[in-house]
Amino acid sequence: MAVPDASKVRVRIAPSPTGFAHLGTASTALYNVLFGRANGGTFVLRIDDTDVERNRPEYELVIYESLHWLGLDWDEGPDKGGPDGPYRQSERLDLYKEHAARLLGEGKAYRCYCTPEELDAERKQAQAEKRPYKYSRRCLTNPPSGRPEFTVRFKVPGGEVKFTDMIRGEMSFDADLIGDFIIVKSDGYPTYNFASPVDDAAMKITHVIRGEEHLSNTPYQLMLVDALGYTRPVAYAHMPLILAKDGAKLSKRKHPEANLALYREQGYLPEALINYLALLGWNPGTSQEIFTFDELLRAFSFDRVQHAGARFDWEKLNWINGEYIRRLDDEELTRRLRPFLPNLDEATIRRAVPALKTRLTKLADAADLLDYLWTDPAPPELDPDSVESIRAAVHALNGVPWEPEPIHDALMQVVEESGAKPNKIFMPIRLAVTGKKISPPIDYTLALLPQDVAMSRLQRAIGGPA
Ligand code: GLU
Repeated sequence: MAVPDASKVRVRIAPSPTGFAHLGTASTALYNVLFGRANGGTFVLRIDDTDVERNRPEYELVIYESLHWLGLDWDEGPDKGGPDGPYRQSERLDLYKEHAARLLGEGKAYRCYCTPEELDAERKQAQAEKRPYKYSRRCLTNPPSGRPEFTVRFKVPGGEVKFTDMIRGEMSFDADLIGDFIIVKSDGYPTYNFASPVDDAAMKITHVIRGEEHLSNTPYQLMLVDALGYTRPVAYAHMPLILAKDGAKLSKRKHPEANLALYREQGYLPEALINYLALLGWNPGTSQEIFTFDELLRAFSFDRVQHAGARFDWEKLNWINGEYIRRLDDEELTRRLRPFLPNLDEATIRRAVPALKTRLTKLADAADLLDYLWTDPAPPELDPDSVESIRAAVHALNGVPWEPEPIHDALMQVVEESGAKPNKIFMPIRLAVTGKKISPPIDYTLALLPQDVAMSRLQRAIGGPA
């Protein structure tokens, strides 16, 4: 089998299709893509689906869709093919079997017939004696006979395992503390720590970029790479964990922000989320916060990625998303808003865009701001001053061309004549027309409704014609 050629960068992600697509998958994919593309390399998508209990093919599609939505496209993968396929681990079982057989044949692995109860007893014994647990190697020296079920254990050679981490520097682990670990389970399936390095070697992966939770797995995997006679990947990068606001690790069950689908549903722009994810754990060393993808490609490097966990910050994401929304031209924003405003025709959305642009942090907010266009709000309770303000507005608006500017001029006239603050006049109008305290700027709020509808809502609020 060919060995990795370090001059040709190959990176990969290996998500497991066990539920919704996780924000961490997007962040890992992004750092892989940034490093891979900046080095003219190849980005591989491998589906880590050996957990038969939890994997579902539909979750694989969810991973594809989320990555496509973010524009993080892969060069090789189950759907694309490539020279080192298949790219689903469930289709590579023969390869793992061959490798296990080789290790068994060379005495680098052995069958273990211990039952879970026996292993549990060993573990408890170690606990009672206050020593770290390591498998006793009973089945290496004195295996019980007559038991059909077995696992395969790797015979850990011990010593020091060193590797380069592009974020954390030179790492060193004491393998004498690592017991012989299982590489093939009793159902014949490989463990993650076995399948992953076999695939990384077979797929000639040069740089393994993944979450920090795998840092402690790396010495296990490197010992297997060595035992199988492969060349090690050039380097690893263990990315900081993404933490929720409360400092806990972002979990699929507890934190809705872990679910990538949420961002799409809420109308975060994929390019804004990419920008945010790049900054979640990495800093450019300058005050720049808005980056195009090409700028990220040029600026990103692992030596500015932090070691500590990165806390998720909705405020920052919302700010970045608002910036991206404001930078879209009106046609493009209209196009992107369309799925979020199914009740409105394109021309109405287009007319609303200049007003929305200044107020949106995410596209889904548009429906809250505009729902008065397709639902008739209940007339508000108004004090006598407010009734008076609306009465004056109705007079002033009578016969005015129904566009934001003339509407604005007419209402400013009312403001001036009343001597009140603009909001004192605008708020009752807003309440009467939309039923809410927040809406687009008042001139747009009115202009977006047909004139007769706007006028009749105003008149209704003051109990009849002005
Ligand atoms: N399936 C593992 C995960 O999603 C892959 C880890 C790796 O990249 O090796 O965490």
